[in-house]
Amino acid sequence: MTVFCVMNARRGRNSTLSKIKLLDQHLIDKIAAGEVVERPASVVKELVENGIDAGSTCLEIEIRNGGIDYIQVSDNGAGIEEDDLVLAFARHATSKLETEDDLFSVESMGFRGEALSSIAAVSRVELCSNAGDGGNCIRVEGGQVVSCQPAPVPPGTTVIVRNLFFNTPARRKFLKSPVTEGNHVYDTVVRLALSHPEISFCFRNEHRMVFMTSGNGDLREAVLAIFGGDFTRRLLDIEFQYGDIKVSGLIGRPDLTRKNRKGQIFAVNSRVVRNSMLSASLEDAYQGMLVSRERPVGIIFLTIPHKQVDVNVHPQKAEVRFHDEKTVYTALKTAVRQELLKIADPVTTAETYLYHEPASEIRAPVSSPYISNNSGYQAQPVLHDDLLLFETTDERTPPIKVYGQWQDSYLICEIDGNLSIIDQHAAHERLLYNRLIANPAERLCQELAVPVALELQPDLLRLVEARIDHLAELGYHLNRLGERTVVVRSMPAMTVGGEVEALMEILEAWQDQALSEEAVLDSGLKILACKGAVKAGQRLQEREIIELIGKWAVTENRNFCPHGRPVCYTIDRTEIERLLKR
Ligand code: ADP
Ligand code: MG
Repeated sequence: MTVFCVMNARRGRNSTLSKIKLLDQHLIDKIAAGEVVERPASVVKELVENGIDAGSTCLEIEIRNGGIDYIQVSDNGAGIEEDDLVLAFARHATSKLETEDDLFSVESMGFRGEALSSIAAVSRVELCSNAGDGGNCIRVEGGQVVSCQPAPVPPGTTVIVRNLFFNTPARRKFLKSPVTEGNHVYDTVVRLALSHPEISFCFRNEHRMVFMTSGNGDLREAVLAIFGGDFTRRLLDIEFQYGDIKVSGLIGRPDLTRKNRKGQIFAVNSRVVRNSMLSASLEDAYQGMLVSRERPVGIIFLTIPHKQVDVNVHPQKAEVRFHDEKTVYTALKTAVRQELLKIADPVTTAETYLYHEPASEIRAPVSSPYISNNSGYQAQPVLHDDLLLFETTDERTPPIKVYGQWQDSYLICEIDGNLSIIDQHAAHERLLYNRLIANPAERLCQELAVPVALELQPDLLRLVEARIDHLAELGYHLNRLGERTVVVRSMPAMTVGGEVEALMEILEAWQDQALSEEAVLDSGLKILACKGAVKAGQRLQEREIIELIGKWAVTENRNFCPHGRPVCYTIDRTEIERLLKR
């Protein structure tokens, strides 16, 4: 690589400094170090990756003062032979790449041969290694070899990095507090440890052990060692083959979320990477199950033929590019979604519901909420004294018993032997939303005998005009009348009683956010479903409850309302017995 530098080109006509010069090697290393070594966490990442490449089964990482003063990484890998010690610190010196072709099928973590030279350019490094030759130690400070001599050390390699950026004060100033830097190191080690459950990782901070994984290859066990039981219990296994792409790992149940993407770890062919498409794919798979701004959690392994991934796009090798992004997106989303649907809708297919009675037998009274049969399936209610029992012909489908309505808001049920509390509004909302999505004919509109005139603020008026087609799709037909008024000629039938309120809410939702075309209609449908659904605090008649639960039981994604809130809270019998100390 040749680095040219245009120095002081703007310094006045007489300046003799405007000449182009080749930079000396020392400066080149310092500049490159800036790309590779950003903070203590980047040093740890590079050293750990070297240990992984060396075939280690055990890695120990220790930091002091957030890694700024002291970083130690020890491995039990192949080691570096005496002859290679000095070379290992030379820039672009690597044992992992030989030909240009190799660059397009990189299987090791490292390949650029610039980590050790970059680290040594901006710190004081001591590397001791034993490749079966008894052992040697080399010290390099600010890029200069200080000493290199035999030393009896155990097999493997130990690297100690002291005083990071001691010779580049400008960079040192950019470091955050030791606590923050230490947290970055922790995040980095966690990601590396989870992407390599077959290697035992031990992490110490200020002489105290933070965690240690067993290295037995079991991802769940590694997660347990790092995050504990509560977290691990709420993870689901995924495993999915999509063409030549394999997706595996653990994903969070929808009740395990974070406010940011820190809980998302992606390993592409065992390399931890950041990639917004992968995050988007994971998050899209949770659509309708999470409240906005919640981020799902996942430790996801993608195995993709090496030729289909470009790993050489970032000096820190933290990014990758896929030749076929769309396929990778679909593979991941499908893998996650199908697992989530199993819990969102444990009764897998609608075919498992074959009820005895024709739909018309159960008809809601006139005063009933807007519930009508559309699914083609019906539950058969059997009245046992004062409880209702839904039975199905399929043995895999759990029967649902409804014990009644509580606080005019919740339906107390028994599902599969456990106690479930169903939010009547959320359940009905999900039901209506699914119907609106599945069948546009459901978006019936009702001509108003007396059109309603609405006075709107100028920005809402503009919005009405811009979105007139979307409004019509939702069932609202409006005309402008004069300066500030619109006349509403028809409204969606679903919102009887709350039409204007729903319209205003829809306009406000559209006003607030920058929505994609698809999301515009979707947000409208969610509001219609919400307005059309029975409310909390609304007393339901027995027949209405039967109808609601019967329909809800066969609704796809029934355990979450369209906004992603849970519909049903279940307490299993053992939990109740534990609480009651039986
Ligand atoms: P890269 O990993 O891209 O090859 P590095 O600068 O990180 O570049 O390392 C240079 C070389 O030093 C590696 O190719 C490897 O041969 C050797 N090396 C570095 N660290 C270790 C280690 N922990 N165990 C064995 N060899 C190592
Ligand atoms: Mg390396």
